[in-house]
Amino acid sequence: MRGRGEKGSQKCKTQKLKIMLLRHTTAKEIDRKALTINPAKTCQPVGAMYAALGVHGCLPHSHGSQGCCSYHRSALTRHFKEPVMASTSSFSEGSSVFGGSANMVAALETIFSVYDPEVVAVHTTCLSETIGDDMTQIISKAHEDGKVPAGKKVIYCNTPSYVGTHVTGYANQVSAFVKFFSTATPKKKNVVNLVAGWMEPADMKEIKRLASVLEARTIMFPDMTGVLDAPLTGHYEMYPKGGVTIPELTATGDSKFTLGLGTYCTEDACVKLENKCKVPFEAIEIPIGLKATDRFITELSRAANVPVPDSITAERGQLIDFIADNSKYFYGKRVALFGDPDTLIPLTEFLVSLDMKPVYIVTGTPGKHFDEAMATILKDIPEAKFKSGERADMFQMHQWIKQEGVDLLIGNTYGKYIARDENIPFVRLGFPVTDRAGFNFFPTTGYVGATNLAIKMLDAILDHKDRTCSEEKFELVQ
Ligand code: SF4
Repeated sequence: MRGRGEKGSQKCKTQKLKIMLLRHTTAKEIDRKALTINPAKTCQPVGAMYAALGVHGCLPHSHGSQGCCSYHRSALTRHFKEPVMASTSSFSEGSSVFGGSANMVAALETIFSVYDPEVVAVHTTCLSETIGDDMTQIISKAHEDGKVPAGKKVIYCNTPSYVGTHVTGYANQVSAFVKFFSTATPKKKNVVNLVAGWMEPADMKEIKRLASVLEARTIMFPDMTGVLDAPLTGHYEMYPKGGVTIPELTATGDSKFTLGLGTYCTEDACVKLENKCKVPFEAIEIPIGLKATDRFITELSRAANVPVPDSITAERGQLIDFIADNSKYFYGKRVALFGDPDTLIPLTEFLVSLDMKPVYIVTGTPGKHFDEAMATILKDIPEAKFKSGERADMFQMHQWIKQEGVDLLIGNTYGKYIARDENIPFVRLGFPVTDRAGFNFFPTTGYVGATNLAIKMLDAILDHKDRTCSEEKFELVQ
């Protein structure tokens, strides 16, 4: 009896081990016209809410139902492990039929009397966009009714989530900063605007550090440093010390040049700033990896008319040294990655410069630039597949992995299901990362960030090797 029981429990364990979380994913692909499974994106207002937090004293406001606002706040809170404040127009059945004007005006009165922000950044939702609420008219009415105190601002952007993604929402909010604040005076200043695409506060901090080492005068917007990585002081601050200030945002119209970091998130704002205030611009990739950081340093040095100091050259040299020391582990490794195009483009380029093989790349955000950039970066990797837009989902990437495996997976927390089922080393990167902490402190930008990222990838690959290799191949010194 005992023997049979042991055998039975062994069988049970074996069966348990075989259970896959994504067991319905098949290697065989079927052309899907209308169905997205496990999308590599989230909804527009999440991006607008995140960007609004990068302005000091700003309260994001969701013009829609409470459910939308709660979801967007929790998406950000789960990633940053910080309380994310935002207000809502709290649509009911009545406002869903007759429009949300009354709710919005009442909300503004409450917001300014209770929470006292400098600026309220309103973004719309699917519901208010479907109703067709006219935000200009509603905000004008709030001003006429005396609900907006003197000196306070209410701005808005449209973020219908049935088009675009969180990246589009972020871009729309950043453009709204330009539309409502940037002002040109007759005198240009020797300042370079740095329009920050979607990245971690630590990434923004690293970019500002590089700019200060270069002795370039810059204004970064939005700027989440000191907001979503603020210290615990024992005193609650509704509006933490960080964020770009309104006077700084206003002064962006007097800067002599603008660098947009991440085309998808910033190019529209750069164009608007050029049209409105005659500030020329260049939209480049977020400085992730060696080449993208080289381009950033070169462009900033040129725009600010400052030389590149030796200390930055030394940081670059340290990254090169790390790559050279460990090239044997990176060489030829097949990588699958998913996330936002502004991150994926420089990241894929970095992987290629490490002699890795990024073979599967998907982003839920649509756009030609991604496809064109990938075609160029991956021209020497004929087996590489990439896809953008609504149907470019994680399900399809998983199917590709099932057809031919990879050595590394890079993406947000949702990738852990694929990584576990397929036993692939996994590096968490992007938004959201909800099952690990500290990403708001971990820069991946600049030469230091690229070294951090390369170390993470190497650790994941070698940890996996240590766990799975045969006894003969288990080495103390790698
Ligand atoms: S997709 Fe639309 S309805 Fe859903 S949470 Fe986002 S804004 Fe709200």
